[in-house]
Amino acid sequence: MHHEKSRAAFDLARSLIPGGVNSPARAFGAVGGHPIFVDRADGAYLYDIDGNRYIDYIGSWGPMILGHGHPRVVEAVKAAVERGTSFGAPTEAESHLAQLLVDALPSVEKVRLVNSGTEATMSAIRLARGFTGRDVVVKFAGNYHGHVDSLLVAAGSSAATLAVPNSPGVTAGTAKDTLVLPYNDVAAMEDAFADYGSRIAAVIAEPVVGNMGCVAPSPSFLHALRDLTSRHGAVLIFDEVMTGFRVAYGGAQTVFGIRPDLTTLGKIIGGGLPVGAYGGRAEIMDHVLPAGKVFQAGTLSGNPLATAAGIATLEVLRDTNPYPRLEEVSARLADGLRRAADSAGAVCCLTRLGSMMTLFFAAGEVTDWASASRCDTARFASYFWGMIDRGVYMPCSQFEALFVSTAHTDEDIDRTIAAAGEVFSEDPHITAK
Ligand SMILES: *Cc1c(COP(=O)(O)O)cnc(C)c1O
Repeated sequence: MHHEKSRAAFDLARSLIPGGVNSPARAFGAVGGHPIFVDRADGAYLYDIDGNRYIDYIGSWGPMILGHGHPRVVEAVKAAVERGTSFGAPTEAESHLAQLLVDALPSVEKVRLVNSGTEATMSAIRLARGFTGRDVVVKFAGNYHGHVDSLLVAAGSSAATLAVPNSPGVTAGTAKDTLVLPYNDVAAMEDAFADYGSRIAAVIAEPVVGNMGCVAPSPSFLHALRDLTSRHGAVLIFDEVMTGFRVAYGGAQTVFGIRPDLTTLGKIIGGGLPVGAYGGRAEIMDHVLPAGKVFQAGTLSGNPLATAAGIATLEVLRDTNPYPRLEEVSARLADGLRRAADSAGAVCCLTRLGSMMTLFFAAGEVTDWASASRCDTARFASYFWGMIDRGVYMPCSQFEALFVSTAHTDEDIDRTIAAAGEVFSEDPHITAK
């Protein structure tokens, strides 16, 4: 497969844009080599500027659950653009999208639209602090909530100590108000609440993790989260930017039957345009300005194009209920990848929840950041490039989930499994002991 044009485009981009990309995951840094520059996409396929076609399992890192260029979404955006691209004044479409979110998510009574997942989590944290009058926020190692200063932190030297910055530019002062705990560890959470309970404003968690690869919660972990936050008067925030409308129409909170106080959303609810949202109990949401005093604003929030794409996407999902079919197709892919790895004797484990999954190059189960970080990322990189060479575009990092869309056919899945079979049997590096 030729990538000359992508190489040249990357060289130019690097002279103009830091690292050549507008979001770091796109640079292929974790697997080495040059990123592929996209020309266009259609259904389940991506086409690069060298004319290669790939089966796409990134789907813009989550939003494209209907595949690329779904006709209902394209029509909705075209109709919206004719009526004006931004007004900075309220529209009925914003209530329409808000209604869809409130109807879908059992815990959400009121919702505010923003422009990205990062904005949603940043605003939810501020709201939780404003509502409780407390400062400390708890997050879990390996969970990602966007590039919010107070959440770009790593655990200190022992569990349940206050966090340290994990990016230059995040101040120690900001980091000290965040606690980082291991995921799926009920005892660590009980200890943290015993030590800091009256100071904890919020606990934010991915209810199914997508951002250290796909990691499922233990049911007792999610119940402990709900229980401890309720007992100590802290706000429970489910970050469903990835899982909302992905693992089920009503998100992970419907799958596990847990009601968070606040939910953050993004990705699918914008149908490929920039949208985020945060919502929850009306009693908390009414603290947001101008109903309440917690400041949050946005020139382009509720943008008519983005809102139209979001409404169209959610209505297709609501009216066609593709989730049983997504489950079936995703199970077929997961089984095939697992078989390909097993029959070559590769040391792998696969985690899947609905249409999100990760093949981990690790011996045991992956349940938290400690186990995820034991993966063999060099073998993952060989697997990634082997799949690219065979026209399959998967996440370029071991610590990302892949996504199946409604546009993937059984034939796409079978071609993917066949490609994986070739990669595992032909690349000695992947299976070497
Ligand atoms: C992608 C993601 C975010 C950040 O959303 P952006 O739109 O990239 O700012 C936050 N939380 C989770 C769980 C995500 O997957």
